[in-house]
Amino acid sequence: MTHRHNLTLETARNQGLCHCLKCGVVLEDVLEADNCSRCRAALYSRKPRSLQKTWVYLITAILLFFPANLLPITYTNSLGQPTQVDTILSSILFLWHHGSYVVAAIIFLASIVTPFFKIAVLLYLLTHQSPRKAPVLQTKLYKFIHFVGRWSMIDVFVVALLGALVQGNFATITPGTGIFAFAAVVMLTMFATEHFDTRLLWDNYREHLCKKQK
Ligand SMILES: [Zn+2]
Repeated sequence: MTHRHNLTLETARNQGLCHCLKCGVVLEDVLEADNCSRCRAALYSRKPRSLQKTWVYLITAILLFFPANLLPITYTNSLGQPTQVDTILSSILFLWHHGSYVVAAIIFLASIVTPFFKIAVLLYLLTHQSPRKAPVLQTKLYKFIHFVGRWSMIDVFVVALLGALVQGNFATITPGTGIFAFAAVVMLTMFATEHFDTRLLWDNYREHLCKKQK
């Protein structure tokens, strides 16, 4: 049996198998409407309304990406000095100019490059759904942003940590609206990633191959 032949015929769904996304068990002979026999979660072989949900979360994330980067993330009050207002970018530049190159680089990667890259990949996944090509690149990109997602919250932690360190010494740091918009962007891109289902791309491709063979 050739690889292509294999691909056109065999899926877990075709064989009546279903993988519970909550507890990971693989069940035999289940219907779409069933509940998992182990953890009682609803079972579905493909994530329901995957594309619509991914689009909604992604568009909201894109809209919030601007306030996240333009609005202040911190207000620093030092004794005898005017309040210093910082956005994500200005705090990165501040750290860089004061010689904290590594911290500046980490925050730049985590808070500007990563969310931007995740949004770009999700847009690519949603707009490149052609069934004529095997979605190999799409699957790899998806796995990558899924893996990378958990590190983006680092920025929120850094602000919380700085606030805790500085509080009570010489300055007080108060979080600005930008940090909430940023946290929302990170959460929304995580939700968008979670709701996307690469198996739907492979279903389309498989269907296309089946039609071609007939
Ligand atoms: Zn389960």
